[in-house]
Amino acid sequence: MSEASVSPVRTTCPYCGVGCGVNVQPETDGSFTVKPDKLHPANQGRLCSKGMALAETLDHPMRLLHPEIAGRAVSWDEASTEVAQKLKDITAKHGPDSVAFYVSGQLLTEDYYVANKLMKGFIGSANIDTNSRLCMSSAVVAHKRAFGEDLVPCSYEDLEQCELIVLVGTNTAWCHPVLYQRMVKAKKDNPSLKVVLIDPRRTQTADLADLHLAVKPGSDAYLYNGLLAYLADNGHTAAAFVAQHTENSEGAIEQAKISANDVVAVAEQCGLSVEAVSAFFTLFASTEKVVSVFSQGVNQSSSGADKGNALINCHLLTGRIGKPGMGPFSFTGQPNAMGGREVGGLANQLAAHMDIENPEHRELVQEFWQSPRIPQQQGLKAVDLFEAIHEGKVKAVWIMATNPAVSLPDTNRVREALEKCECVIVSDCIANTDTMKYADIRLPALTWGERNGTVTNSDRTISRQRPFVPAQGESKADWQIVTEVAHKMGYAKDFPYQTSLDVFKEHATLSGYKNDGQRCFDISVLSGLSREAFDALQPMQWPLKAADASAIETSDGSPEDYMETTRLFEDGLFFTPSRKARFISVTPTLPQSEASHEYPLVMNTGRVRDHWHTLTRTGISSRLSLHVSEPTVEISPQDASSRGLKDGDLLRVHNQLGELRLPAKIDQGLQQGNVFVPMHWNQQFGHSATVGNVIPSAVDPFSGQPESKHAVVEIEPL
Ligand code: SF4
Repeated sequence: MSEASVSPVRTTCPYCGVGCGVNVQPETDGSFTVKPDKLHPANQGRLCSKGMALAETLDHPMRLLHPEIAGRAVSWDEASTEVAQKLKDITAKHGPDSVAFYVSGQLLTEDYYVANKLMKGFIGSANIDTNSRLCMSSAVVAHKRAFGEDLVPCSYEDLEQCELIVLVGTNTAWCHPVLYQRMVKAKKDNPSLKVVLIDPRRTQTADLADLHLAVKPGSDAYLYNGLLAYLADNGHTAAAFVAQHTENSEGAIEQAKISANDVVAVAEQCGLSVEAVSAFFTLFASTEKVVSVFSQGVNQSSSGADKGNALINCHLLTGRIGKPGMGPFSFTGQPNAMGGREVGGLANQLAAHMDIENPEHRELVQEFWQSPRIPQQQGLKAVDLFEAIHEGKVKAVWIMATNPAVSLPDTNRVREALEKCECVIVSDCIANTDTMKYADIRLPALTWGERNGTVTNSDRTISRQRPFVPAQGESKADWQIVTEVAHKMGYAKDFPYQTSLDVFKEHATLSGYKNDGQRCFDISVLSGLSREAFDALQPMQWPLKAADASAIETSDGSPEDYMETTRLFEDGLFFTPSRKARFISVTPTLPQSEASHEYPLVMNTGRVRDHWHTLTRTGISSRLSLHVSEPTVEISPQDASSRGLKDGDLLRVHNQLGELRLPAKIDQGLQQGNVFVPMHWNQQFGHSATVGNVIPSAVDPFSGQPESKHAVVEIEPL
């Protein structure tokens, strides 16, 4: 290591949507030390266990190092020619919708942008969806319906400025640990700050809660409809705000009263005591500064979008939005789920927060891209996409940086689909994921530490991922791989990118193209960034306003040199055609699968503290595996007692879709009739099955997000 290269590199943690800044210090022995970035606004000097262990996961023993076709190592030229030819041949014979891309919230924004452009603008299909479909697409629908655009109204500092934090369907302590640490400190600094947790499980997050509502699984919309009715009936309406800045309040309140006309009814629907519901309603009503955090427990539901809107309705009625310390706050799961949304990575979006089914948006994007075609309808969402592969309608799929053979529901059927598919292309950094087994063409991609670009976290802060190690083997950036395929397909002039900065600048330019303020997402102030300014770019939160665009060229990367951040909705203007926020009338529905005599237990899924997704990175750190070394099926003390089970008993967890074999773990935090299985483990890590084996592919009708938090199962001792 040369003297010149020993200063720390500022980059961003690749795990969750908190988006913490890290400083990577190269050591003289060739190793690296990872420390928190004290200057990053997301973490302000904190990191969780996963972030602290990043250096241990750098040298992966199973890196994919060379392109391969049918198991044979080939040159990049041969591989990209083969991919381009397959895509061209299949679309020529069967039409553009016979191919699909399935991408990932792990991609950088630049990767996402280029993949989306190739599929939607040049292949001419909207069949590009992302694994972010599995974690936040219901929140996207809720935002778009209420605000006219997919906008998260809060910032992390709101968690410190409020007087009440309501955590709905989130085990923040384990899934967004640094934000949990910020909440712990906020409560210590302000003892009057109250925290309410709404979650069927008593998780570690409950330790911070003044009130825990262990709701019946899936009953959140009854609770929030009840709250809306309570607020309306008891004089807690911000009348002037509602009249001036919203529409359909009366319709939503009327609908809410049908499902939840008093506290007693709400308590019964949610499986709570009347006292607990009253305590929550009273606290919410009497506290002005409320932040309502919602996450996968709300989103991963067959009615996740409605649940999100039921929650947002309560903030609209009280006018608690667009001001410090208040608002609905969706925590995203992945490091760049938000960046993917910005470039249109979902099958129903276009780039720069535009809609594929809006003719004006299509025309604008097609004109900007100078593309030959653009689809008029949305493409297949994740679950439907893999079903279409199973049915033979989609004949080629290009999977980038994700592991659908583990992470999608009904994984046995997903694996069958991949087995049957005419052409499976997988770009990844790891050679032995469960999905990679099905790949006809394997393309080695860069990973964290090698990649160079941007990500956007849960509070709309764009941060840089910077490289500090050379690419291993022949790995390339995903944007570069897609660009090379686009060239081979005949689109060289339309994909002229030499660097990720070239892509970023085009993305930034498109966000401002013919944007007269009707679209909030506009980062075009960054479209003229020099290489030096991009390299030095500091974390910055949109919306951005140019204070002095000419200063960009000479900036040392400090965003205050050339832009101002404004608080979303502080002017009371939203991004619907009327510029008013919309109340959505919600009719609550319960989960699609009901416990029965045959399958009497409700199974919930989620993360453990120290692992990430399908373990491909965290699974190689022995330190991270100490916390939870093996998957278990967690059961309530009552169910264990009635079935004569004890900790460690090997159980068969099964339903009509498949089975898992797991040791029992008795957990005091579970209600009787509920079980919990973590989501991470899979065949790559020596397990015969993944939890997706027993999760049905029921989805939300608006978002297409699967109901991963609710399957019904039976357990039996083996
Ligand atoms: Fe990384 Fe999330 Fe932990 Fe921050 S909280 S260090 S982003 S895993």
